[in-house]
Amino acid sequence: MIKRYKTKQIFVGDVAIGGDAPISVQSMTYSDTKDVEATVEQINRLHFAGCDIVRVAVPDMEDALALKEIKSRISLPLVADIHFNYKLALEAAKVVDCIRINPGNIGEKSRVKDIVKACTQRGIPIRIGVNSGSLEKQFENKYGQSAEGMVASAEYNIKFLEDLGFDQIKISLKASDVQRTVDAYRMLRPKNDYPFHLGVTEAGTIFHATVKSSIGLGALLLDGIGDTMRISITGELEEEIKVGKAILKDSGVAKDGLNIISCPTCGRIEADLVSAVSEIEKRTAHIKAPLDVSVMGCVVNAIGEAKSADVAIAYGKGQGLVMVKGEVVAKLNEKELVDRFVQEVESAALKEENK
Ligand code: SF4
Repeated sequence: MIKRYKTKQIFVGDVAIGGDAPISVQSMTYSDTKDVEATVEQINRLHFAGCDIVRVAVPDMEDALALKEIKSRISLPLVADIHFNYKLALEAAKVVDCIRINPGNIGEKSRVKDIVKACTQRGIPIRIGVNSGSLEKQFENKYGQSAEGMVASAEYNIKFLEDLGFDQIKISLKASDVQRTVDAYRMLRPKNDYPFHLGVTEAGTIFHATVKSSIGLGALLLDGIGDTMRISITGELEEEIKVGKAILKDSGVAKDGLNIISCPTCGRIEADLVSAVSEIEKRTAHIKAPLDVSVMGCVVNAIGEAKSADVAIAYGKGQGLVMVKGEVVAKLNEKELVDRFVQEVESAALKEENK
């Protein structure tokens, strides 16, 4: 059983982050933000894919000025990503739901003060987004690009905001190195109760980003650390959401949809299990009820797995069993098994939803 760190709850638009709120999944558009049509189109794609919060880059004033129209055409909470120029944050703060600043490159603290003032007036939070590759000089000189340096930067900036009476804060500590990312979050977690935005940055193509994020974010989630997250993938927008949701589900943090238990390649398999599981995955993708289902290739482990599964199939030679809560409900030819299994899953999902 995962015990989550109890963090302070903040809101990005209508999405709660921290406290007992579900862990949200975020992503970021790659359009030129000032191209309103393209940006709205990407945000809508993310929304459709199940994204909870979206962030857009704001590299110049034209981008900042475009945010008003973007905001009026979307319903996802909007975060403005600001580097270097604090004036962009002041403009963005007039319309967005959260400002992300990289304290290492925003410059003099008087500028951060102005950003805090603008966010206080609108009642919106700030993400202190520390990146190991762009730490403030004093921390990089002392600690290099280490987890210690990231934590020192985060603590310094938290204190700066707190001294201004501002506590609507969330924090990220991202590095492209998995170990350093995990170390930094683990080090900082006991020192405050602000919600954490998790991510391994610049994680690469979908294959490597999935592996790195599963290791890094998975380790943290199992420690009870993390309130919102983004998976960085050099790839398409929808993939970030798909991988993020899968990490939450497969780490056991989120109960959402089917948990499919199925056999690996094995010399005892007595059916075309690869096709069966892939068909089951497609036909049950719409199901949101948290069910455990097992699809087993022979009787060796099938009965054992079926006992703890809501619905199960045990394949034999040319035929097999469908089981519900460990009880056999049908013995059918191989061709009929998937249909019956999907029927039983849908009916179990309906019961779960009506509970
Ligand atoms: S249940 Fe049978 S097919 Fe599946 S992994 Fe075990 S021995 Fe292999």
